[in-house]
Amino acid sequence: MSLNNKKMVVVSACLAGINCRYDCKIKPNKKVVELIKKGNAIPVCPEQLGGLPTPRIAAERAGDKVLRKDGVDVTEEFTTGAREALKIAKLVGCKTAILKARSPSCGSGKIYDGNFTGTLINGDGICAELFKKNGIKVITEEEL
Ligand code: SF4
Repeated sequence: MSLNNKKMVVVSACLAGINCRYDCKIKPNKKVVELIKKGNAIPVCPEQLGGLPTPRIAAERAGDKVLRKDGVDVTEEFTTGAREALKIAKLVGCKTAILKARSPSCGSGKIYDGNFTGTLINGDGICAELFKKNGIKVITEEEL
């Protein structure tokens, strides 16, 4: 068996076609799938890692909190999932992550404003924010 020093990136699992989105829609990104096939990327879903089920009620960031559409506070689950995703990123020496645009966990630069009206504001999802604070560069699949 040979070991190598491939540069690993962490990717949002939904971009790999994994059924982890809140609405169970499968939306693979070809470039992300190729990275995984080559052994250069590892898929993670922070929301599932935080213990949330699939499907699940949509949630959006509202300041430092994350609230479901029905008002339930899921900040703890989102925060736990972000921490677990960071553990995986550190284990594989990840310096760059490719995360799903606009997600309340994975979104980078633009996220929904917390009113469930489709309005975008500047900001990061909980996991993307934690990755950046820990020196991991985050790009979205739209920047690939
Ligand atoms: Fe995809 Fe991230 Fe949402 Fe999981 S938390 S479904 S990986 S965008």
